[in-house]
Amino acid sequence: MKNVTAYINNKALLHNLDVIKTHVPNSKIIAVVKANAYGHGLINVAKTLESKVDAFAVARIGEAISLKEHNINKPVVLLEGFYNEDEVKIIAQNGFMTAVHDIEQVQMLQKAKLEGLKVKAFMKIDIGMHRLGANPEDVLNIKTQLENCINVEQPIGLISHLSVADTPSEYDYNNEQINYFLDVAKTFKGDLCLANSAGILNWPLSHTDYVRPGIIMYGISPFEGKVGHDHGLMPVMSLKSSLIAIRHVKKGAKIGYGAAFIAPCDTTIGIVAAGYGDGYPRTAPNGTPVYINGRIVPTAGHVCMDMLFVDLGNDAKDKVGDEAVLWGDELPVEIIAKYCNTIPYELVCRVMPRVDISYFG
Ligand SMILES: *Cc1c(COP(=O)(O)O)cnc(C)c1O
Repeated sequence: MKNVTAYINNKALLHNLDVIKTHVPNSKIIAVVKANAYGHGLINVAKTLESKVDAFAVARIGEAISLKEHNINKPVVLLEGFYNEDEVKIIAQNGFMTAVHDIEQVQMLQKAKLEGLKVKAFMKIDIGMHRLGANPEDVLNIKTQLENCINVEQPIGLISHLSVADTPSEYDYNNEQINYFLDVAKTFKGDLCLANSAGILNWPLSHTDYVRPGIIMYGISPFEGKVGHDHGLMPVMSLKSSLIAIRHVKKGAKIGYGAAFIAPCDTTIGIVAAGYGDGYPRTAPNGTPVYINGRIVPTAGHVCMDMLFVDLGNDAKDKVGDEAVLWGDELPVEIIAKYCNTIPYELVCRVMPRVDISYFG
């Protein structure tokens, strides 16, 4: 009997990268592998993709160092930059590339003692997300300071992030962001980097020198109401466990903590060894689909830390040890996310460390 296992299909990862390349034949690819490659295992994903991409992107310097320690030699981009001068030194020594999003980071670059090493920088501007990046009125000042900074390699690049590329109803706001980016870009000699997954699929004008696919590499759609297959992508992660008990219950039986499910008729309840302690969301309501023995069965009652209940039906033939697919090829994670009122990004990211990861393909 298997514990909860996340099966990672490396062939699907490579397939998805090929699909991405058909959308952006003229752009270089920065594969986004932050948050343990969206829960898929940082080093496995990086090794699988290394020969096919131009760079990797992470959010934390520890993730970049980990790539380096595992002999990944492609450039690594720090999407949020750095927080002190020591980190600037680490960036320069390792040849990482970094976003620079405000004047404090510029000052750290100016003060750092790099003994002749240079930092490869993308200046980050805010084009409408209002998260990180220079405000329009500060762009010129920050740009000039970066161009005059002895510790910065020239020419500097330009980077930003779309906030509504996954929201088709925000057509105008999205175009405004892209046009503003391209406008500022006219004054930059370095590389431009804008599109995320949704930009790659839906907004050709955002396909600049570099693109930054994340979620679509993992075979997941960034758009609400769509799944990876709709874009020709293959899911990379399948989260599976097994039935560890089968119980026959009478109509009216109160199932689980808080009696959150009451059997509407005599039925068979299966206990699956997967719970929120593994990363399966407790917010999954009654009726969330689980795939067992070739069919979808609904969850019943509150998800527990280590287990969840499924209603197998009165005449169920399922046995202890049978496989339960929580999401994967047969059951898109996008569907589970919808039931749980969240996005698939969150579900794959929060697979817990105790879950075994098994790579194939
Ligand atoms: C996470 C992230 C991405 C990747 O986004 P996806 O929607 O997963 O493609 C790209 N750029 C930045 C700045 C990010 O933080």
